[in-house]
Amino acid sequence: MFIFMYKLLRGFLPAYLSMHIDNPPTCHYATRSSISGNFFIQPRFYRLSSSLNSFFPRTIKAWNALPETVKQSPSPHQFKVLLKLHLLKAIPSNPPVKYHNLSNGSIGRFLIQISLGLSPLKSQLFKYNLTDNPFCQICKLDVETPLHYFTGCPPLTTLAVELRSNVRLLLLKFPRIARFVGDLHSNEVYLNLLLNGVIHVPFSNSSDLDTELSPFYLDLYKITTNYVFHTKRLLPID
Ligand SMILES: [Zn+2]
Repeated sequence: MFIFMYKLLRGFLPAYLSMHIDNPPTCHYATRSSISGNFFIQPRFYRLSSSLNSFFPRTIKAWNALPETVKQSPSPHQFKVLLKLHLLKAIPSNPPVKYHNLSNGSIGRFLIQISLGLSPLKSQLFKYNLTDNPFCQICKLDVETPLHYFTGCPPLTTLAVELRSNVRLLLLKFPRIARFVGDLHSNEVYLNLLLNGVIHVPFSNSSDLDTELSPFYLDLYKITTNYVFHTKRLLPID
């Protein structure tokens, strides 16, 4: 769409297309005076909000945001080269992978809710006066905190041990990521990993680490949601 706009402003395209913009196209071949001209396009006032999403307003907005040096390129070839360089700089090659982006469905929602402190876990409901009983509805022995649910609830011991061992195996598979996790013996570290992923990875400095993070998160999410599924915690208890 940038090439289209460049050609439109330079008069390379049919005149009827120029009706959509307020700057009249200059000559085909850039002279010194036209190069120094201003390539800002005055956005028009659109009465319907739906037309704001239409091609021209969108393209004009993106065009105006380009650096002047790119817009003022004297030839379409140089324009393409400078545009590519600009876009490569502007778009990070590896946008940071976010663990919570994987969440979907009721189990994914449940994990995010626990992380935010307002989930159906009894201790969290109790904190917000949404229940008068903070005790675990599975074992009824202890307050149902996130830590209790993931590590301390007696009827869930087998599943919890399996979860922890799967997490350890996963970290062995991804040693470079494991370095940023911390000591898994710490309940806080362990819980944080299950609920939020790895929060201390230096994304911007190491792009290969980012590419490893995606498959790591997929597996972590799979084994954590698998635990929740098998605890049947989201099913109504009779
Ligand atoms: Zn329990």
